[in-house]
Amino acid sequence: MATKAAMAKYQKIKKIANGYSSKASVFSIKLRRRCTMCGRPRGYIRKFDMCRICFRKYASSGMLPGVKKVNN
Ligand SMILES: [Zn+2]
Repeated sequence: MATKAAMAKYQKIKKIANGYSSKASVFSIKLRRRCTMCGRPRGYIRKFDMCRICFRKYASSGMLPGVKKVNN
């Protein structure tokens, strides 16, 4: 689990990177993407904006529209 400080920093940098500020390009390079659910910095799936663990959890419970298992 990510610390509160790490998540706060991530939210702050993400906000600048996604905005129209002159610093946006600089901060978009610095941005280390994190899972929006748990804040995990590794195993991040960009398409779903979450980590592999949260993706598996939500996909298994049918919370992600359009996602289904290949092999049942
Ligand atoms: Zn996660």
